[in-house]
Amino acid sequence: MNQQAPRAFDVIVVGAGFSGLYLLYRLRKMGFSTVVLEAGSDVGGTWYWNRYPGARCDVESMEYSYGFDKQLEQEWNWTERYPAQPEILRYLQHVADRFDLRRDIHFHTRVKSARWQEETGTWKVRTESGDTLQAAFCIMATGCLSTPRLPPFKGIESFQGKWYHTAQWPKEGVDFTGQRVGVIGTGSTGIQAIPKIAEQASQLFVFQRTPNFSIPAHNGPIDQSFQRSLKARYPEHRAAARASFFGVPVEMTADSALATPPEERQKRFEAAWQYGGATRTLQAFADLLVTEEANATAADFVRGKIREIVKDPAVADLLCPTDHPIGTKRICVDTHYYATYNRPNVTLVDVRKAPIVEITPKGLHTEAGDYELDSLVFATGFDAMTGALLGIEIEGRDGLTLQDKWSSGPSAYLGLASAGFPNLFMMTGPGSPSVLSNMVVSIEQHVEWVTDAMAYLREHGLKSIEADAAAETDWMRHVTEVADTTLFPKANSWYVGANIPGKPRMFMPYVGGVGPYRDHCQGIADRGYEGFVLEPDGPQGKVQRAV
Ligand code: FAD
Ligand code: NAP
Repeated sequence: MNQQAPRAFDVIVVGAGFSGLYLLYRLRKMGFSTVVLEAGSDVGGTWYWNRYPGARCDVESMEYSYGFDKQLEQEWNWTERYPAQPEILRYLQHVADRFDLRRDIHFHTRVKSARWQEETGTWKVRTESGDTLQAAFCIMATGCLSTPRLPPFKGIESFQGKWYHTAQWPKEGVDFTGQRVGVIGTGSTGIQAIPKIAEQASQLFVFQRTPNFSIPAHNGPIDQSFQRSLKARYPEHRAAARASFFGVPVEMTADSALATPPEERQKRFEAAWQYGGATRTLQAFADLLVTEEANATAADFVRGKIREIVKDPAVADLLCPTDHPIGTKRICVDTHYYATYNRPNVTLVDVRKAPIVEITPKGLHTEAGDYELDSLVFATGFDAMTGALLGIEIEGRDGLTLQDKWSSGPSAYLGLASAGFPNLFMMTGPGSPSVLSNMVVSIEQHVEWVTDAMAYLREHGLKSIEADAAAETDWMRHVTEVADTTLFPKANSWYVGANIPGKPRMFMPYVGGVGPYRDHCQGIADRGYEGFVLEPDGPQGKVQRAV
């Protein structure tokens, strides 16, 4: 860390992914002295850490990109519809360079704790190397999917081959040529990595516990004339994304799948499948995420596709999800995933029926037998939504810790702030649309809302903003009520914390839609930050309650 840097700032931001970079850009422009602390050695967040083969976005590049700067969006040219990790990382590095952001980012700096100092009205942030920094505001841009989860497999330390977690992939890459490789995990990550690893490995064993629905990306080079024409109407396109349900501008329909004749329904699903990606399938009918019968029409369609593609009917059967309604776990978006199982060097192993017992020096032992492996890949996911936040000792007023407050599940007003933690914001936190959306759209909305709130405080001589406990409780009740009107809570997904044993189970993201959420947040700001307690600067001023 630069020893010359001042230790006191207006704002400390933790994390230098999409969220942290835009925060720094905007806060600096608004005249707030800001420092960003980042555990990695460079910018990029998700796209810095997840370098596994096949990693790419599942939202099209022209939408999965910043819209805050007109020149940036005009000058950057995407090469693919769904760019791969190296291209997205290059884009974020370009953003950092273009706006000269790196000079205020401290890399290799993991934050250990953040404690509210009542006497000074500041946050004291301590890093793992023992440095302390202080600021009036602390913003956790620590990511929803940034704490990798490695299940405690017995015997892992005895394995004589090499093993990798997809979210901590070596920068130099891995060459699996000629190797016997095992992959554990068939979520979005596994589904992207498996076809690429299969191209190199002599033998690939996929250890599947639960199959997921996947829809082909139909990825390819972006047609340059399409790119030019979309750039020409970027303002309208971005506005439509902001107002949309998932943060992707797809026309909404009021049609019911059940009320639509079967051939017409099939045609619409087929068109969505041929277009590629998940959004068009999910939005093909209005009732897919609301009634099980409607949902089953889409699920049957995708299962039919799996059976068409995979030649061995027993393997196809194993790949067909039946334990959750389609869309209630994030739908995977793939390139040749199902067809990979037609390759002679790929074996699907059912570890639901015969669970993994242990990892051995030579490979992996399940209840059904032994598999000799040279390398093992864990695509086993994340402690999502709360993992990174609870990985930091965050202590607010009167010694209240976030760990204690969230011991039975996270609670945050609008997913942005939690009562008892003044001047602490979180980006895309639990209770906001976050992972149910095109996250760049959600991130931009959060950054703008939070920085506008800080500017409001400054203009009005206010020193702190804190979520009101009652408003927060009402919001979290609303989050649950809206989720309960959908099929989302029916899945054992990481949205409800089901992938981490012992994690309190609740539906964490807000399913009310990106556009409606945005309007709601704007209304709250317009009404003087309704539901927040704002405290005046200066001696013993009266507390202004905007609740
Ligand atoms: P992140 O990018 O996760 O960045 C958080 C940063 O905080 C990290 O760099 C981390 O090192 C740092 N950090 C965390 N804790 C600490 C600490 N204690 N101290 C210091 N630094 C810390 N979303 C989509 O909408 N579309 C997609 O196609 C898509 N694809 C994805 C693919 C993968 C493989 C994954 C894992 C996620 C994907 N997501 C996608 C979600 C993705 O996380 C978001 O789109 C977005 O990149 C999040 O940006 P962020 O800045 O909020 O968080
Ligand atoms: P994930 O969806 O949580 O999948 C983890 C996988 O590991 C599951 O198949 C799980 O099986 C398996 N697993 C975990 N523990 C296991 C065990 N002990 N034994 C056997 N199997 C085990 O994680 P992910 O695939 O990394 O994706 C997480 C999220 O990141 C996605 O939902 C998405 O939002 C984002 N992402 C997006 C993309 C993209 O396309 N752009 C790519 C990657 C990630 P069970 O289901 O049986 O637990």
